[in-house]
Amino acid sequence: MQKQQNIIEESLKALMEDETFLPDLQAQTREQAFKSLVALLSTPNHIHKSFLRITLENGTIVRIPSFRVQHSDTVGPYKGGIRFHESVNEGEVANLAKLMTLKNALHELPFGGGKGGVIINPKEYSIKELNLICKKYVQYFEDILGPDKDIPAPDVGTGEREMDWMMGEYKNTHPGQPYRNSFTGKSIVNGGSLGRRESTGKGVYFTFRYMMHNYLQENKKWLSETENIFAKTALDHAEKKLSMAIQGFGNLGSVAALEAYQCDYLQNKIVAVSDHNVMLYNEDGLDIPALLKYTKDNDGDLPTNDEALQEHGIKAEVQERDDLLTLDVDVLLLAALEDQIHENNMEEIQARLIIEGANGPITETADRYLADKGVLIVPDILANAGGVIVSYYEWIQGREAQFMTEDQVYERLFDKMKNTMDTILPQFFGDPFPLRQNSYIHAVMKLSTIMYRQGKLY
Ligand code: NAD
Repeated sequence: MQKQQNIIEESLKALMEDETFLPDLQAQTREQAFKSLVALLSTPNHIHKSFLRITLENGTIVRIPSFRVQHSDTVGPYKGGIRFHESVNEGEVANLAKLMTLKNALHELPFGGGKGGVIINPKEYSIKELNLICKKYVQYFEDILGPDKDIPAPDVGTGEREMDWMMGEYKNTHPGQPYRNSFTGKSIVNGGSLGRRESTGKGVYFTFRYMMHNYLQENKKWLSETENIFAKTALDHAEKKLSMAIQGFGNLGSVAALEAYQCDYLQNKIVAVSDHNVMLYNEDGLDIPALLKYTKDNDGDLPTNDEALQEHGIKAEVQERDDLLTLDVDVLLLAALEDQIHENNMEEIQARLIIEGANGPITETADRYLADKGVLIVPDILANAGGVIVSYYEWIQGREAQFMTEDQVYERLFDKMKNTMDTILPQFFGDPFPLRQNSYIHAVMKLSTIMYRQGKLY
């Protein structure tokens, strides 16, 4: 995550040189204020650590390391997921908390950034043990959590079940206090929001569709007159059939795939999808609803052989999983893991449009290499905020004890993402920075202005 830190520093450097930004700050004071901003944005406000004492079902007592990092509450209460994974570590949790601060600022959500982690492989624990781990997490961090302090959500290895348990424990430990909006990503019966599960995948596809359809149509004239390399890439792909490959067919990838498949605005043809086992390819386009039905009945996995494909009437070839990344397609949607495009495969990437559904799927070196070649990358911070945006709606609904319909949730989600895109895109197509840098500059600008106005730079 050095990439993130470098972009923050580059953004602050660009802003310092822009004299129209915070013009009251001049000369030495300006330099000092920007130095302070680097320090404030690079480090978290608090790192809370604890060892959860758990008695396993076999009677053994274990101590499980766990964290809650609170990066910034400049804009509002800390907000971010809790990850249950063996590879969790303090540095990773701190970086993810920082990303949440920036993502929330970019999308103008009234939250700061936080993140939690527990170092376990949840598959190695019984349901009873996991329930105990969730309760202990809330007990150990009870003073720092709460609807107006720090509101966790699910992340890798946690879901609505864990959020329900945690909210239940928060209710027990805070009798008589508001509790419904202490956690988001809960089940619907327990105060969760309709549409929360689909929100990230829908939002990811929406950002792409909005840029390539709505924005291009409305701004074609000036875009065709600029020298901007990314405007050229976008216009080269306007109003033509777009071949698309999607890495990852889980919660995010499968929802985004269906959105792309059903889209009335762009003519997409999804020629390849992959999961942890295989890549499926069909140059005429895959039947996404049939694949969704298959994965639903098969633990989320895609068919891995010709017999399974034939039996379910799905026309596709089974190919090597990782070859998906280097296919000759227009669009690559990355919805699996971090660091998928790197030094060793970046030169073979043929797609000119890349959408980051996963967090950090492109390494810093590969990111610069592709951007220099004019590849238009819709970055994670911009594209995959649907989950936290709908978490915000869940938080509001919990406060008001009034619930929106699924259509209302999506309407508000797309509205919010449209607002962000309308702020960022004119700037992006008007200057030489890639979309990632533009998004970071905007987030850093928002945070810096608020910190300055709150008197935190003295
Ligand atoms: P998921 O576990 O539901 O799905 C992951 C998918 O990736 C699965 O289909 C899995 O088989 C596949 N996969 C794993 N390794 C692979 C590989 N090497 N090659 C190809 N496919 C592989 O997870 P998700 O919720 O869909 O999230 C996907 C990514 O997006 C994760 O990195 C997650 O952190 C990120 N993300 C998710 C959300 C969300 O709300 N779901 C929000 C922000 C970011």
